[in-house]
Order: sequence, then C-alpha cells, then structure tokens
Amino acid sequence: MTAQIIDGKAIAQKVRDEVGAAVAQRAARGLAQPVLATVLVGDRPDSAAYVASKGKACNELGMGSVSHRLPGDATQEQVEALVKGLNADPKINGILVQLPMPAHINEESALSLISIEKDVDGFSPLNIGRLAQKGRTPLFVPCTPAGCIYLLDQAGVKIDGANAVVLGRSNIVCMPAALLLLRQNATVTICHSRTRDLPGMIRQADILIAAIGKIEMVRGDWIKPGAAVIDVGINEKLDPSRKSGRRLVGDVAFDEAKEVAGWITPVPGGVGPMTIAMLMRNTLHAAELQDR
Ligand code: NAP
Repeated sequence: MTAQIIDGKAIAQKVRDEVGAAVAQRAARGLAQPVLATVLVGDRPDSAAYVASKGKACNELGMGSVSHRLPGDATQEQVEALVKGLNADPKINGILVQLPMPAHINEESALSLISIEKDVDGFSPLNIGRLAQKGRTPLFVPCTPAGCIYLLDQAGVKIDGANAVVLGRSNIVCMPAALLLLRQNATVTICHSRTRDLPGMIRQADILIAAIGKIEMVRGDWIKPGAAVIDVGINEKLDPSRKSGRRLVGDVAFDEAKEVAGWITPVPGGVGPMTIAMLMRNTLHAAELQDR
C-alpha cells in the first residue's frame, strides 16, 4: 500500500484564498481591515522569522499587521502592559504573543491577560478551558492542532469512532489536538516520554498525530496499515547530499510509513503551512466578532 500524500501546502493556500476573498468582501462593505498585533520578546532568530512570516501573510491577504518588539531583558510588567494596551486598542483585532518567551517571563500570566475576543492563538486559559469542556465553544482554537484536524477532514479521513493516538502532550499542539479529536468522537490516547510500549500503542491508531520533535522516531512498522498519519515534527537532519548539509524531516520515518499508511503528511509541506493559514482565519474571525 502506498499512502495518499496530504498536500498541506495546497490545502493551506485554499484557506488563505478564502480568507483573502472574505477580507476583500469586508472592504467592499466598508468594514475595516482585520489587524493582527504580534509581540516578540527577545531576539531568537527562529521566533523573529515566525513573527515576520505572520506579518507578511497578513499583508498578502489584505489584512493589517503591527509588530511590537521588546528586548530580551524586558520585565513581566512591560510585557503585560503591552498586552493590556493592545487589548484596549480598538484598531487591533488579534493579539499573538510569540512563544517561547525568555525564561524569566511568566508566559501563563501574560497569556491569561489577552482578551478572549483577541486571542487568535487560542492559548488563553479561557479558550483552552472551553475547548476542554463538553457543550462549550471556544472563540478560537490553537492554529497548529486546528490545521491537523482540517487536513484530516480535507483528506476525507473519518474521525468519528476512530482510535486516535496523539504522540506528545505539549500545550500548544498535542493537548488541544487530543481535545479536538475527542470533540469529533474519536477515542483518544495521549502518549509521551513515559508511555510503555510506544510502538504497540501506535499500532492501534487509525489516526496518529505526532509532535515530539524527534527525528523520524516513529518507524514504518509502528503504523497500522491504512492509518492516517499527521506529522507535526519539524527537525533538522544532517544530509551531506544537500548543499546546506541538512534537510527538514518529521517525527515519522516518512519513506517507511508511506508504504503502510493510508494517508500521510510530508515534512516540509504538510502541517507547517497550515499553522499560518489557520492564524489568518482566526484573525478574520476576530474582526468579525468585534464588528458585532
Ligand atoms: P514540546 O513542547 O517540545 O513537547 C514534546 C513532547 O514530546 C512532550 O510531551 C514529550 O513528552 C514528548 N516526547 C519527547 N520525547 C519523546 C519520546 N522519546 N517518546 C515519547 N514522547 C516523547 O513539543 P512541541 O512544542 O509540541 O513540538 C513538537 C514538534 O512539533 C517539534 O518538532 C516542533 O518543531 C513541531 N511543531 C511544529 C509546528 C508546525 O507548525 N508544524 C508547530 C509547533 C510545533 P513528555 O511530556 O513526557 O516530556
């Protein structure tokens, strides 16, 4: 069996096109363009690159973006004052505080200040709490896990009743992914570094979402034949055949797994592009909520 490759790049482009069209319609109706504010504390090059690409995506879709940068030694009070100012600014629809912040900053405290209507990353305890509770609806769902579920839906994978394994238990990807799968009636198992017999657990999975940051750790013979495999991992692997000497790979051994799985996302070009596409969608949604 050779898996169907889920083309995250094409699916993300479709989402972006839809958002761009909705933004243009808003403009035609005389409504203000949605505006995303980003907050970057410190000078991590990867975080700076992520923030820049989010701003660029906003501009490409006709949305506004405002970037705020604080030095790495900024105090908790400075970060929180900035978030409060953005909450109060009616021109700002969405607030994204880039993580991780420097170790001396209490992230939970800063994130909990973001107004629920502007929490486009979906990490505020209010949105996560609503996601975790039956019968409640979060205003925003975290972007990467929302992208994983969107990819499954677009590929036509049946989630209802499926055995799903989420590999990893991070706040930003795995826990919300597990909650989203549960909301769609999957039977969900969350595996982590203390799980006994990881291969045996994963072999039960009709759906696997892997986000552990370990180069190709999930082998082909861990995959249940016909399973849907969503690989969130982004890892650099040495590759002397490349000019750069390295290439990006996921947490799943793609070449092995694609011979067993029914569907699989590549790295790069799978989940990665979905994260920004879902952020754009959430920013549009924030503007729509605030129109009311
Ligand atoms: P994280 O916070 O670093 O957490 C890693 C998780 O993996 C932890 O729950 C850890 O278990 C588990 N883990 C680590 N080693 C393991 C092992 N040997 N066996 C089983 N479980 C193990 O993870 P993250 O921030 O979610 O990132 C995970 C990966 O996703 C990274 O490669 C990251 O670059 C990627 N990512 C991609 C996107 C995207 O847009 N595509 C977005 C976010 C993250 P314990 O809790 O027991 O320690």
